[in-house]
Amino acid sequence: MSSPQSNEHKVDASWIGWFVGNKSNEFVCRVPIDFIDDKFNLTGLEYSEDTVNVILEPYFDRSVAWVSGHEEKLYGMIHAKYIMTERGVEDMRLKYEMGDFGSCPKFYCKGQKALPVGLSDEWGHSTVKIYCPSCRDVFRPRYRPKLDGAMFGTSFPHLFFMELPMLRPEPPVEKYVPRLHGFQLHESAFMPLDPRDSSRESSPKSFKSSSPSFFPD
Ligand SMILES: [Zn+2]
Repeated sequence: MSSPQSNEHKVDASWIGWFVGNKSNEFVCRVPIDFIDDKFNLTGLEYSEDTVNVILEPYFDRSVAWVSGHEEKLYGMIHAKYIMTERGVEDMRLKYEMGDFGSCPKFYCKGQKALPVGLSDEWGHSTVKIYCPSCRDVFRPRYRPKLDGAMFGTSFPHLFFMELPMLRPEPPVEKYVPRLHGFQLHESAFMPLDPRDSSRESSPKSFKSSSPSFFPD
């Protein structure tokens, strides 16, 4: 009789199990075999049958079977399609609720859970970023920046919250207000120096004239 550990090992013997189980691929969910097997879902993707076969390989031997190097791209592009389906949104919801995608680094977002997003739908343009649904901004993930953003695409977090409106968070209640000696700074204090006035930058005499204006709060 086999132990639970050896059963787990059997499940993870597939290429997908190996890829998804890789610690640096934690953002990626497991795309079901039947979804990959359905040629309709591969429409528009460039691929070879050999690459599909490696991805679907139930007993992947990592020492020899990493053959073409195209597997990650093909799986990634299928993944981008899958997470836009009802099943995919549900799989990603579980990962979101587990905090697998990390959280917003902004102080006033108070650890709001984030979702992965791509800045392009094309492969090779940029690595995955995280999107905060509270402040609606994007950030570099703290770890694992190597996954291609196209694995998630530009629309995923927005579809996710359209499908699951009950998960939409409130925007941050508080906002950081820059102050100098207790006084709120005037907008002009944040304006970059006009290049025509760049001589002021290096002149110590200019300190007074370039000091920020502020007004009482
Ligand atoms: Zn945020």
